[in-house]
Amino acid sequence: MVKALVARSAGADLAVEEIELPRPEPGEVRVRIAAAGVCHSDLSMINGTVRPKFPLVLGHEAAGVVIETGSEVRRVAEGDHVVINWSPACGECAFCQHGEPWLCVTMEGVTSRPRGTLADGTPTHVTLGVGALAEEVVVSEGALVTVSPELPMADAALLGCAVLTGVGAVHNTARVRQGESVAVIGLGGVGLSAVAGAQLAGAERIVAVDISADKEELARTCGATDFLISNPELPQVVHSLTDGLGVNHTFECVGRSDTIRAAWQSTRRGGTCVVVGMGSRDDKISFSALELFHFARTLTSSVYGSADPDRDIPGIASAVLSGSLNLDAIVTHQISLSDVPAAFDRMRHGEGGRSIVLFT
Ligand code: NAD
Ligand code: ZN
Repeated sequence: MVKALVARSAGADLAVEEIELPRPEPGEVRVRIAAAGVCHSDLSMINGTVRPKFPLVLGHEAAGVVIETGSEVRRVAEGDHVVINWSPACGECAFCQHGEPWLCVTMEGVTSRPRGTLADGTPTHVTLGVGALAEEVVVSEGALVTVSPELPMADAALLGCAVLTGVGAVHNTARVRQGESVAVIGLGGVGLSAVAGAQLAGAERIVAVDISADKEELARTCGATDFLISNPELPQVVHSLTDGLGVNHTFECVGRSDTIRAAWQSTRRGGTCVVVGMGSRDDKISFSALELFHFARTLTSSVYGSADPDRDIPGIASAVLSGSLNLDAIVTHQISLSDVPAAFDRMRHGEGGRSIVLFT
């Protein structure tokens, strides 16, 4: 039995419960989690934004150590330090064959089957096929990327979601180039990672935006050149900072129609507006036919940083180890499993950066 953070239903109180995980099947691996981040997508599982199956073990942003391998496992061995990739690619579906592993169709199958049982024998689902707010997980070997033991586990955990997503949105989705200007709206773990990624890409002007003044110092440490409090005139202010043009690229890291709209209007003609936030299906947004034509902007989303985790997690890990990508400002709270509900409260109030559960 291992301890895990379980949601019995949407809106119900969370509880640390004992769960039984299955033995690794062929190609599967048991990992002892060392560090797991609290991502807004975990909150979205229980606040009605998305509708997963319950009971549900939360968590998907994590790193740990391989402690048991099933038969036919070739990619990892006991003792390896691994980052968990919540979107492992099958390599065979139309998307994988088209070079888009982040859109792999296997994701749907993984999230729909239970994985383990609660103490009373009830089967439980695990978030995104992972359920990493737990002492251990059992996942397919394809969901693991080996990293150097020199990489601190808290940083390694961030590479599993916030950093791969934020840095990937900048480098892979928008392909930000040296000297360009960007704006990042929403400065949680994902947005701060996009700011750090923009600095790594050599962006000259990095405008960071949030509703919370708390975020200014964190954003500037990550590389922001300007900080603005979100307000209805945001696009005009961004235009005034950029010779009336707007920024080359905007990254919406909240998941709301009003901030997507603000990001869109803050983007220069011909620029790229990237929706990174995951919003709800009921939150509608509209565009006039004329503005779509006139502004010639690209509106796109970035799922998991449009990343190939097998390629990009080692690349980002090297940047962290060499000091060119500094993640120190992103983690503001090191907590235990029972503190996760308080971390969700901070998230609801826009306080702090990433909270990371450290398992000792
Ligand atoms: P978070 O809650 O830590 O951060 C969100 C930030 O947005 C907070 O700082 C908050 O103060 C700010 N904010 C809220 N309303 C705002 C507004 N109106 N204007 C400006 N700022 C506002 O969340 P996170 O973990 O960083 O995740 C951010 C978003 O990215 C979420 O929607 C999450 O589900 C999504 N996400 C997407 C992917 C992906 O694959 N694209 C991966 C991970 C997370
Ligand atoms: Zn996440």
